[in-house]
Amino acid sequence: MSAPAAPLRRKMIAGGGALLLLPVVPRLARAATILAVRTWPADEYTRVTLEMDTELKAEHFTLDHPFRLVVDIEGLRLSPAINDLVSKIRPNDPYIDSVRAGQNRPNVVRLVFDLKQDVAPQVFTLKPIGEYKYRLVLDLYPKVAQDPLMALLKDAENDPLAGILENLAQNSPTEAPIPSVEGQKLPPIARNKQPEIAPPQPRAAPGARSGRPILIALDPGHGGEDPGAIGSRGTREKDIVLQIAHRLKKLIDAQPNMRAYLTRDRDYFVPLNVRVQKARRVQADLFISIHADAWIKPSARGSSVWALSQHGATSSAARWLAKKENDADLIGGVNLGAHNAQVAKVLLDLSTGAQINDSIRVGTQVLNEIGKINQLHKNRIERAGFAVLKAPDIPSILIETAFISNPQEEQLLRTSAHQQRIANAVLSGIQDYFSAHPALARRE
Ligand SMILES: [Zn+2]
Repeated sequence: MSAPAAPLRRKMIAGGGALLLLPVVPRLARAATILAVRTWPADEYTRVTLEMDTELKAEHFTLDHPFRLVVDIEGLRLSPAINDLVSKIRPNDPYIDSVRAGQNRPNVVRLVFDLKQDVAPQVFTLKPIGEYKYRLVLDLYPKVAQDPLMALLKDAENDPLAGILENLAQNSPTEAPIPSVEGQKLPPIARNKQPEIAPPQPRAAPGARSGRPILIALDPGHGGEDPGAIGSRGTREKDIVLQIAHRLKKLIDAQPNMRAYLTRDRDYFVPLNVRVQKARRVQADLFISIHADAWIKPSARGSSVWALSQHGATSSAARWLAKKENDADLIGGVNLGAHNAQVAKVLLDLSTGAQINDSIRVGTQVLNEIGKINQLHKNRIERAGFAVLKAPDIPSILIETAFISNPQEEQLLRTSAHQQRIANAVLSGIQDYFSAHPALARRE
């Protein structure tokens, strides 16, 4: 970028107000500053985030033989922070092999990602929110969308229920489409296996009759760019809830008639509506979102269990909490241009009173069990408009395991013993629910 052009450009970005206060000195001519570079590799997709002090335009294209993603960022100069990105690509990244950065034109930095497979990239920017400044987000999805059912099968090797799960995958109805983003194809395997003339199989009741296991979707909140609440010792909600979810999955999978499915199994962000879609895709019988609460006063403490409300929250604190949890999409970062947003709207309209009644039943059982191992914040199940509880056909609860903002509870949440107690209590609650409603089957 030539020196005279630079202040002009800055002017257009920053707007008039700020410039009135700032003398036009060469300092303004410098390129945008990269504040941080983060990578979130996962099987589902790999995300690369560049956090900057100003919003920058980026253009991208892909190349074959070998597969590459090229991203041109305007208004940027090479800096140590950009080179930092090179070292942040992890060897186990499913999509990125390596990255190269170069000054392509005077004011354009070109990133070339050497890929391990063909990708359907999503490149978008996010405005400042929470702790974050401007973010340029590069999401690398596989060209063929991952089917959550396949994750379930991958888990089921040597499982006596593998055959049943495989049958489920082959006969999966099309009512819950595979979560995908623009530019992605649907997996050929699932579609080819489905006989074209056969009508969708009616769902059997979970448990005894069909031998089909009760399937529990476990949803560890937050992840990736979204740390969730953070305790005074720096404990991040996203890490604690993932650990608890893994413990609970292990307990559930050890039951002869139950299997668990994780909506995320590591540290990356999953949009709220995708969590719901995944649970529907695997035909979960129950959806449990796991969180840890936070409040401005460190004295707040205790566990709580939540169900969906379609008509307002049970208290102003409840409304505040639901808003905070629903903001996960803004902090975690979703591409509003992608068609996922459409699906979310449809789901919202489909929510039913029957789902909520079942959610309150199972939530009450879980609350009773948690009450045996931790103080309860409220003695009854509470309700608010949580986006993640909006599967119209799956009883869905959200558990605030404890207050991570309370120093004593933060300390407890960090210990494996307490995490295990929580997991045990939730399992007992689930078992109480299904033994109290043995004939309970949805969609029959
Ligand atoms: Zn949360």
